[in-house]
Amino acid sequence: MKAALITGLNQLEIREIPDPLLPYGGVIVKMVSAAICGTDVKMLLNGHRDLVLPRIPGHEGAGVVIETDNESFKTGDVVAVYPGIYCGRCLNCLDGNTSRCDSIKIYGFNQDGLFRALVPFDSNEIKSLVHVRESGNIENMALAEPLACCISAYNKVHVKNGSALIIGAGSVGSIFAALLLSKGFNEVVVIDRERQKLEGQIPVNAKTIETDVNSIESSLKAHNHVRGFDLIVPCCPDGLNWDFWRFMKPGGSALLFSGNNRGVDNNNIDMNEIHYRELVLAGSYGCNARDFRDAIRMIEDDEIDLSFLSPRFASLDEIPECISALKNSTVKKVIINKF
Ligand SMILES: [Zn+2]
Ligand SMILES: [Zn+2]
Repeated sequence: MKAALITGLNQLEIREIPDPLLPYGGVIVKMVSAAICGTDVKMLLNGHRDLVLPRIPGHEGAGVVIETDNESFKTGDVVAVYPGIYCGRCLNCLDGNTSRCDSIKIYGFNQDGLFRALVPFDSNEIKSLVHVRESGNIENMALAEPLACCISAYNKVHVKNGSALIIGAGSVGSIFAALLLSKGFNEVVVIDRERQKLEGQIPVNAKTIETDVNSIESSLKAHNHVRGFDLIVPCCPDGLNWDFWRFMKPGGSALLFSGNNRGVDNNNIDMNEIHYRELVLAGSYGCNARDFRDAIRMIEDDEIDLSFLSPRFASLDEIPECISALKNSTVKKVIINKF
């Protein structure tokens, strides 16, 4: 079968590798869709904290069970893949925080991922498989993981409506905007310095502002955003490089949904601002299994419409050129649907 393999920094190969054998008590899933995440692009170019090489990347995907040695799964079952392999027994797992599992492994990072035709899941790993409705659009289920990460972040703040500012109009910033709109936020503003990211593949009801990190303040004022926001979500490293807390309403929240670029430290937060104006800063990385199930349910029940993303569909062989297109922002989301 074919697989994509990261062999070094900026080195991605499409290779023939042996088909997997059915693991004892597990299943083999034939991939139907696997989306390329911004993190895949970043870790190919810059490496990543959790990346171990060589590695088959891919952590957003869905497929069909074609072989099974487990009574919970039958041939033909449609499943989406939760990106983490968690123990289910540690205190974090028992609290439902599976992304903080003491022994978490992540597909495509420190465990081979989904950019291959067939993926084996052993009796421990099948916890990562979530049944989805067979009548639904399986290709769309590749978007459940990024949506689940947004849900996981959203669940960490108490602000549940009002106004929100999303910094970064990449796929995840756009999905975050769609989530907040579906949850009842009455004003969602997305800012980015790249006009092409703001012109397409943005939820219809989101407002957009083109600006760079040095002019966020004047751009917001020019658009009459002088009262600040109930929620600010930096979805890209640039979003951390300005004094965003000054634009939070008293009692407002900020979700640090993106990390810094390597070697950059923005340790200039004014603690008195946080204290006197009762601001809340929350970090969020990845998603829990329950967030993933919520994301699937939202997509299945049409509680969120992600059709605005209009992803480009491509084959496994086209991954290298798709990564270039994502890097150059000529496309916002790519879903591999030919393996
Ligand atoms: Zn992702
Ligand atoms: Zn655990």
